[in-house]
Amino acid sequence: MNHPTGLYLHIPFCAGKCPYCDFYSVNADERSIDRYVNALCKSIEHYGTMLNRKADTVYFGGGTPSLIGAKRLSAVKAAAEEFFGFDNAEITVEVNPSKQDFDFELLHKNGFNRISIGLQSANDNELHLLSRQHDIRQADRCITSAQAAGFDNISLDLMIATPQQTKDSLMRSIEFCAEHNVQHISAYLLKVEEGTPYCQIRSSLNLPNDDEQAEMYLFACEKLTEYGFHQYEISNFSKPGFESRHNLKYWHDEEYLGLGPSAHSFVNGKRFYYERSFDAFYSGKTVDDGTGGDTEEWILLGLRLSEGIQNSRFKERFHTDIPKKYFERAKSLEKIGLVTVSNEHISLTEKGLLVSNAVIAQILD
Ligand code: SF4
Repeated sequence: MNHPTGLYLHIPFCAGKCPYCDFYSVNADERSIDRYVNALCKSIEHYGTMLNRKADTVYFGGGTPSLIGAKRLSAVKAAAEEFFGFDNAEITVEVNPSKQDFDFELLHKNGFNRISIGLQSANDNELHLLSRQHDIRQADRCITSAQAAGFDNISLDLMIATPQQTKDSLMRSIEFCAEHNVQHISAYLLKVEEGTPYCQIRSSLNLPNDDEQAEMYLFACEKLTEYGFHQYEISNFSKPGFESRHNLKYWHDEEYLGLGPSAHSFVNGKRFYYERSFDAFYSGKTVDDGTGGDTEEWILLGLRLSEGIQNSRFKERFHTDIPKKYFERAKSLEKIGLVTVSNEHISLTEKGLLVSNAVIAQILD
């Protein structure tokens, strides 16, 4: 049996399209959803049999996984368990708070153990401007229902630098997260993606400029830390021991299989993905995306983590030391407060994490 893998299962359905989002998802009827769930289970059978690897993390992302209901999600999870086998698996499902009748109890009974809720904001005016389908009362009910069903590993998504957001309103959202006693927060700066409706009306959105965005981000980092959430990655914060094991696989450059339209994989050293269409997924055809897991990729991903990269881990993986040139480049960035360097490690400071793409590019040159 090979090393366990992560399993990403894309659920490409949403009740409507948020104007800033470019994830692959469509509105669909029950029959189309059933057809997709069937195809997903078959694909799980195919890869599970072929790869002969257990799964130690399973992540149902989207789209809106909760839209297909706890029964279908449980059926897909059962297929994953049958054809991969689980190794003490973290099993996460993304939930949209607008789905008020979602059966958390069934999910918990069937072995799901982590919930990620798309809160985005605890202010109704901001949710409205983001065209989200839930309000704050629904978000509150969603979190308390998950907790009542027994979930004790809950993550909330928060968006930073959204239209009309102020430091006070962001603070209210952070307080809401803390009051609800959740274990994990993903806090992302709003990114206006090309081709989305938000992109077309960008100038009228009155979005904060780069400096204001930076200020909001650093403010969120500071307040979340004060509430006991440790920042372990650029956009991710958790109570001790509640880091997302699935997402850590990406940043540790470990392997995972992604199934569904637009899903990416890194399996047996190769990267590949499904195109953004149901036909592509149903045909089983993937697009080759080259090889993965080389030293530069490992460094690039590892530097997103606040712990940064350690020589001992590099040695374990590549049987040699981190090349000196990276330490030398990192030292010049240390002088301007973007990086921390020792003989054994390189990591980005909070300021460095804010401009991580540029800092990492300079280290890798
Ligand atoms: S619910 Fe999530 S995946 Fe669906 S459109 Fe909105 S942001 Fe995108």
